[in-house]
Amino acid sequence: MTFDTVGCSCQKRDHRQIDMEIRSVKGMNDIFEPQIHIWRHIEDQVRKHFESFCYTEIKTPVVESTTLFSRGVGDSTDIVQKEMYTFEDRNGEKLSLRPEGTAPVVRALLEHQLLNQDPIQRLYYWGPMFRYERPQKGRYRQFHQYGVEYFGSEDAWVGAEVIAMVVKLFEKLKLKGLAVRLGSVGCDQCRPSYKTILSESLKSLHAQLCSDCQNRTQKNPLRVFDCKNESCKKLVGQLPRILDHLCQVCGDHFAKLQGALGEFGVSYRVDSGLVRGLDYYMRTVFEVTSQDLGAQDAVGGGGRYDKLSEDLGGKPVPAVGFAGGIERLAMLLESRQTEFQPKLPLYVVMPDDQGVGTCARLVSELRLLGIRADIDYSGRSMKSQMKRADRSGADYVLILGGQEISKKMAVLRNMKTKAQEEIPLETLVDDLKRRLQ
Ligand code: ATP
Ligand code: MG
Repeated sequence: MTFDTVGCSCQKRDHRQIDMEIRSVKGMNDIFEPQIHIWRHIEDQVRKHFESFCYTEIKTPVVESTTLFSRGVGDSTDIVQKEMYTFEDRNGEKLSLRPEGTAPVVRALLEHQLLNQDPIQRLYYWGPMFRYERPQKGRYRQFHQYGVEYFGSEDAWVGAEVIAMVVKLFEKLKLKGLAVRLGSVGCDQCRPSYKTILSESLKSLHAQLCSDCQNRTQKNPLRVFDCKNESCKKLVGQLPRILDHLCQVCGDHFAKLQGALGEFGVSYRVDSGLVRGLDYYMRTVFEVTSQDLGAQDAVGGGGRYDKLSEDLGGKPVPAVGFAGGIERLAMLLESRQTEFQPKLPLYVVMPDDQGVGTCARLVSELRLLGIRADIDYSGRSMKSQMKRADRSGADYVLILGGQEISKKMAVLRNMKTKAQEEIPLETLVDDLKRRLQ
């Protein structure tokens, strides 16, 4: 059998099982057992964690106007230039599948005037994003992000709190081998003059840069630092760094941020070459990477984006946020998969069909109490039911057929100790509730 392994690391597909034209879209994955349990664990932990930091969830549509992203994310970014799924709807409106979550959240914030209700807004989101990238391990065309956005404060403490919150989330998920990189990309005061200096020094390297970076040197020279091309990566070592060209306000902000991170007990490394793939950042930028992910090692990243609201036509709203990829988190938790498997307290085995009514009522009653219980009505042999029960990892197996009914007893087998006992049918439900709840 030939398997085409794509998508999440353990997902196998045999395309011969299905007509070519209806198979799933390249780079877009189905998520199911056992991976789905890891996803659920991540989702539960992320929600609980963000909610304890007073963030509330916001759900925005998957489709937005293309203009939102060209203005919000930036016309010169890879995302807008090469990666968006853009189409016209039946009315001729130009729409895009969202490639990221921040621009839509800011759009919603402005559209619903949320800051009039409370000048501080803390919002988190969770959902699918779409980018037309080359699919590979850790990089897909439909992927999922969780993220937070804090609106209403310019203070460096807020950025530090967001970074610390993310680091603590990863600690809660028991992730090891992570590193936080921290930088500043300056502001409207200091970035333009730095860009001129950078463009100047890029001129002498022009011939050695990849064609993308050759274009970038004019439009957005900072992007060169983000180039994945190996030869460009080597060249950037010689370039002047924005950290040496920050204005007083940005310099002070960066120093205060680092002090606050110290208070939160967060370890980080200042990286003077850190720029992020989106244009809206100013001052603080950060990225969290894992040494266990291979080439696509970014677990998440974020920064401050005080100007995005104005770019979208709103009043100035200072803001800082973070976005992380769920697929990459799931990959890091894959070796602990069994931890996240739901437990099965009871499996009911029926040697014949004489106890089926009693068994069906029993299972249904337990399930309504939230106790997971399995049963197989298909009349398989006792041996094959026991085999399935064994494979299910159930704590107990209840055996109930004609023989047991005539004795007014059911047999309960502890699958760990293999001990069996008889339980009177009269008290069966209460007995099981007590044991299994
Ligand atoms: P990368 O450097 O890996 O391309 P990025 O800078 O484009 O990441 P962001 O836009 O900041 O990433 O998105 C935040 C996180 O979302 C990333 O750190 C990563 O974990 C995840 N992510 C981004 N693009 C993809 C993708 N195509 N497939 C899977 N996860 C992704
Ligand atoms: Mg990217």
